[in-house]
Amino acid sequence: MASKYGEVVQESLNALLEDESFLPNFKEEERKKAFTSLESILSTPNQIQKSFLRVPLENGKVLRIPAFRVQHNNAVGPYKGGIRFHETVREDEVINLATLMTLKNTLHDVPFGGGKGGVVINPREFTEKELHTISKKYVHNFSDILGPDKDIPAPDVGTGEREMDWMMGEYKSIHPGRPYRGSFTGKSQVNGGSLGRREATGKGVYYTLRYMLHNFVNENEEWFKKNENRFAKTALNHTKRQLTIGIQGFGNVGSVAALESYTCNYLDTKVVAVSDRNVTLYNEEGLDIKALIEFTSQHEGDLPTTDEALSQSNIKAEIQDREDVLYLDTDILILAALEEQIREDNVDKVKARMIVEGANGPVTLEADRKLSDDGVLIIPDILANAGGVIVSYFEWLQGRETQFYSEEEVFTMLFKKMKETMDNIFPQFFSDPFPLRQNCYIHSVMKLSNILYRHGKLY
Ligand code: GLU
Repeated sequence: MASKYGEVVQESLNALLEDESFLPNFKEEERKKAFTSLESILSTPNQIQKSFLRVPLENGKVLRIPAFRVQHNNAVGPYKGGIRFHETVREDEVINLATLMTLKNTLHDVPFGGGKGGVVINPREFTEKELHTISKKYVHNFSDILGPDKDIPAPDVGTGEREMDWMMGEYKSIHPGRPYRGSFTGKSQVNGGSLGRREATGKGVYYTLRYMLHNFVNENEEWFKKNENRFAKTALNHTKRQLTIGIQGFGNVGSVAALESYTCNYLDTKVVAVSDRNVTLYNEEGLDIKALIEFTSQHEGDLPTTDEALSQSNIKAEIQDREDVLYLDTDILILAALEEQIREDNVDKVKARMIVEGANGPVTLEADRKLSDDGVLIIPDILANAGGVIVSYFEWLQGRETQFYSEEEVFTMLFKKMKETMDNIFPQFFSDPFPLRQNCYIHSVMKLSNILYRHGKLY
């Protein structure tokens, strides 16, 4: 398979063939045929749309900005996935991310397919007015394939409520009289956004970590002992001491996960390091996360980079290089920045015993293999960071119904959904030889194959 995730998908598919509950009523030959069509469905997006956005700048120039929307699969429901504004966006990356969305939604029984969009810009280099034009042009150029029952974008790296509001506005004016509230999720509340959507991914990341540690490391102590070789490093023994956490990325996902740890009464963790595009801040006693969030809210999202700025805000921390967070000796490392942060060339420097993927694809497959072999437990993206799309689903539902959920209801429903997924996956994970990522893929592909079969698409 061509895609980056293709190899893992392929391995998961091979494991399915061995599994008796996979297409049980099929004769061997039919089973093989169905398997081949499943293989091709997973490795080929349904649609790849490319376009150039012609955008007049305030300085009089006109830019041609490449933009993409990839619709991977819609067997489960309308395509769903974020739009990323980033200068390194590439077509194959968007395809990979759209594939991940199909697997993520299916894994958590969210009735959506997988899609993803990208615009090749560094949003920091544009004025608000220009970003407004870019957002509107995106919807204009892809308007035929978007819509509440076709393809529903959401925020991703470099986009947020503001962009979703602009985009929904444009969608509404292009399609007057049609339902529009469900055309985008992650909007501001005045425009029909859901309470809790902004915090959803970070909260879900910490919840996943907490549930994994609390319910399984503790309750499955026997299992951890038996697997000492495989999970030697994960024998965290956290009941006896406070677990330390390092977090790469202090945006929507990282800062919220950090705050969850800071305010959580269930699990004894402390965040000793956080990083962003400029620095790593370290304090072995634990960082004052509230003060850091206060600081970033006044400094365009950036963490303090000088001792002076730290002392003015009364924050105690050591300033280190931005990459250092990856190599600190913490029990847990939460990756909440971009993809491909831990790779073959730097994996040997990683000391954390457990890694949580808050971003999509932050650990490459080669690095994943190496870490898993060394006994590092990795909670993969499609399991850990699904909070965003799950609450997007609640937002989409609220756009169709007149009902509105309180913040408490949103988080209760979110955690319930994530718990159900984990309860579904963990028994098999604790009894079979696969790493957790593969286990998640197997579950997801199995569910997808049943749906495709019911729709008559496996032949
Ligand atoms: N961009 C987020 C993700 O990668 C959220 C997508 C959504 O809400 O549709 O999961």
